[in-house]
Amino acid sequence: MASAFGWFGPLIDLSAASFHIGDFVQLLVFVHRSFPVQCKSSKRGRDLTRTDIEVGDDTTTYFVVSLWQKHMASAVAAGDVVLLQNLKVAKYGGVVEARTVQWSSLLRLVHPYQSLLSNAVDELITGCRVGTTTKDKLRKVIKWVQQSRSTICNINLQSNKQIELLPRNWTVLEEEKPRDCFSLMEVSQLTASCKAIVCASIGEIVPLLTSRTVGDTKKEKIFISRRAYRAENNNLVDDLICTGCHLCGSPLDLKFEQNANQLMCWKNSSRLHSICSIYRPFMLYVWDESDYMPILVKNRAAEILFGNIKAGKVYSTYREQMRNQNLEVGKSLQLEEKHLPDKFNFYRVWLILLKMLLKQGKNGPLKFEIIVDPGLDIENGKFEMVSATMPCFGTK
Ligand SMILES: [Zn+2]
Repeated sequence: MASAFGWFGPLIDLSAASFHIGDFVQLLVFVHRSFPVQCKSSKRGRDLTRTDIEVGDDTTTYFVVSLWQKHMASAVAAGDVVLLQNLKVAKYGGVVEARTVQWSSLLRLVHPYQSLLSNAVDELITGCRVGTTTKDKLRKVIKWVQQSRSTICNINLQSNKQIELLPRNWTVLEEEKPRDCFSLMEVSQLTASCKAIVCASIGEIVPLLTSRTVGDTKKEKIFISRRAYRAENNNLVDDLICTGCHLCGSPLDLKFEQNANQLMCWKNSSRLHSICSIYRPFMLYVWDESDYMPILVKNRAAEILFGNIKAGKVYSTYREQMRNQNLEVGKSLQLEEKHLPDKFNFYRVWLILLKMLLKQGKNGPLKFEIIVDPGLDIENGKFEMVSATMPCFGTK
């Protein structure tokens, strides 16, 4: 399959790359190895992974090509002979390299590596549907690999050994699978850092240190369930929502909450917090027949718990409602309450959800995914909630 864009530039020997800086070229090369490289997007500052492949041909043993397209990276393995089409040659810090662009493509001509050693050169070349110049170059590269494999190949293959697939020369970090735990007791006894899934019922919500709890010795004020049902409840918004970083969930509104850890954001590669209204971290007390457990809930997890309603939406509709109510009291007590007809009242929905969650003993258990870090104390996230879902009993 040739490039859909046609060829830009000539098929060159690697030794001639330095004469083509800034140009588009075609390369027919043997792949020594490939490795992922973490880098930053210059436009958006995002973390990107590109794949560099170290290649060679009959004129230059080692040369680096950067693959910026994921599909290309996954289509190439150490030991392949490939035709790289429409690459741009560049010079970085005195080193000449080539990199892919949007209209680059990769054609695998010989795979697996084993066939390079076992098949006759002509047989390999006949099977390739490429032009004469490309076939000539392919013949040279195959001969070069066969003659110098003991020196160029760090791939440990014997030609008489059947190998189905060459393994990648790096390990892909797979996300750890959460452990299914039978009870909270089992979770509390975990001794290694891991993720756990467990079913438990919600008992109580207790905000972590707020301006109110500092001076408040009356315990019942810190229990949200005791206040959620009172008509005059409130300040619930002030206790559960604050200014902070929506990425790492750190509150940033109070002097006594500032510490060295909070100066930098560990969730952002730029180390800068992204500030807006967030759910203040709170302890969610959950229970089952075996135990009860306080779980730390930060902004993102709280959003999940509150039906994916973001703190900013709750806060803005709450402020607006308060403003309207005050205006009405000032104008006339006879007027009906204004219901923000144009806007969806996220505050009210959030309050209903909060009340429902805190109907102690009347809800079924939720399925919690929890990060367990036995090295931390409870308030710092020994158990931290990742998500909560409605369990589906009776099916797998
Ligand atoms: Zn942050």
